[in-house]
Amino acid sequence: MDFDVIIIGGSYAGLSAALTLGRSTRNVLVIDASEPCNKQTPHSHNFLTHDGDRPADISAAAKAEVLKYPTVKFVEGKAISAKQTEQGFSVDLENSEHFTSRKLLLATGLKDTLPDIKGLAACWAISAIHCPYCHGFEVKNEKVALLMNGEHAFEMSKNIQLLNKDLTILTNGKSELTDVQTEKLRSKSITIVEDEVVEFEHRDGYLENVVFKNGKKLALKAIYVKPEITQHLNFDKQLGFELTDLKIIKVNEQQQTTAKGVYAAGDCTTLFRSLSIITASGTMAAVMINKELISEDF
Ligand SMILES: Cc1cc2nc3c(=O)[nH]c(=O)nc-3n(C[C@H](O)[C@H](O)[C@H](O)COP(=O)(O)OP(=O)(O)OC[C@H]3O[C@@H](n4cnc5c(N)ncnc54)[C@H](O)[C@@H]3O)c2cc1C
Repeated sequence: MDFDVIIIGGSYAGLSAALTLGRSTRNVLVIDASEPCNKQTPHSHNFLTHDGDRPADISAAAKAEVLKYPTVKFVEGKAISAKQTEQGFSVDLENSEHFTSRKLLLATGLKDTLPDIKGLAACWAISAIHCPYCHGFEVKNEKVALLMNGEHAFEMSKNIQLLNKDLTILTNGKSELTDVQTEKLRSKSITIVEDEVVEFEHRDGYLENVVFKNGKKLALKAIYVKPEITQHLNFDKQLGFELTDLKIIKVNEQQQTTAKGVYAAGDCTTLFRSLSIITASGTMAAVMINKELISEDF
């Protein structure tokens, strides 16, 4: 067996787990494809001692801390398959490398797919944002909109109107809000626009105008978006664990999946996508993996 634990995904959740396992003198391999979901974000917020830092600086500092522990190894690359074996797990990389371990931790994050509208991808993570706790304060009191419809638009607008009184909901087609919701939103001076959106005009990712199919434009500082989320790879099929209805990996409070010996942490297991929550889940997974190894060996 090459390692006690293989961690697939070496961003915030994976590194947090590697720190705990490294400090427990476990032989750990971290495999990382270097594609964290926040890589386009200029500044990360709401993470104590790092508020306003560049995400790449936070992860570089984290990696340097973790690699001080001599039993932790880090390889850059993409894991393309993971299998349960009689002794544990075997993992294949795209570059044909192959490793085995007793336990497996998935910290692979989530893939975000944006609505296919011109200019939106360039604005993503800069002025097209997903979370008021991460980026809302920076655009407070500015003119902002939600590119959302129905129940989600209603719930999100409650949150955003705390920071932005000039708020518009772009349903991008027929509104799916109920009459009661529409009346409530209007009573809060929240505008609902059903016109089809064809473009987000921007300068270097900083939003300037939303352009509608009818030719009208709306000047905006930021747009809140809800991307579609999916898992990066079909590890659920390969390893036989369950996803929830929300397409995240089903884990218990100890970050155990429904497959024996397979743990998961970070964004791939939760929609509460925030560095503090994600790093905590990595720590929890590591403690529980270590506990399982101790009880097998003691
Ligand atoms: C645009 C945006 C902005 C954000 N801003 C903030 C913020 O300001 N403050 C905050 O607290 N939170 C913020 N978040 C949330 C935060 O970034 C995430 O919660 C956090 O990055 C999740 O960490 P993770 O380790 O679970 O996944 P990720 O950081 O997404 O990393 C997953 C890693 O796994 C790797 N990987 C995936 N599959 C494989 C594979 N098969 N083989 C090898 N490696 C693989 C990826 O390449 C990647 O490096 C933001 C999120 C987004 C999307």
